[in-house]
Amino acid sequence: MHKIGLGYDIHRLEAGRRLVLGGADIPSGAGLLGHSDGDALVHAVIDALLGALGESDIGTHFPDTDPHTAGARSLGLLETVMGLVRSRGGEIVNVDAVIVAEEPKMGPHITAMKAALAPVLGVPETALGIKAKTNEGLGPVGEKRAIACYAVAFLKLPD
Ligand code: MG
Repeated sequence: MHKIGLGYDIHRLEAGRRLVLGGADIPSGAGLLGHSDGDALVHAVIDALLGALGESDIGTHFPDTDPHTAGARSLGLLETVMGLVRSRGGEIVNVDAVIVAEEPKMGPHITAMKAALAPVLGVPETALGIKAKTNEGLGPVGEKRAIACYAVAFLKLPD
């Protein structure tokens, strides 16, 4: 059978923090606040995968009270979730995502994000869609106070 999952995440931006999205380091004057590295794109992908498995969300699997995940690479959390996908006999058909960020420009970094994500997800880069858009200056994302990400994951699972 096939199952689809939807994920969403938003993190506040803080000046002087490292910006990590989709496992890629992006030069920026501000980065995402979070218990882990704040990688909202990876978090949205994780929730999409967990959703397709009928599992509870990322906060249940990786509580922000857990000292072991403080400052953790979100790609490492994604590896753990892929272990769960594989333990269920699942494989990813494709993942599609949208980053909503006013700045910096994400376009030049999408190749690096796909290169970081594809091996962890066990798919070719052609199975990954990552688009970026601004929020047209509207709301907290438009005012550069946050970055939001959406993702869907489509899985093939045993019948
Ligand atoms: Mg998050």
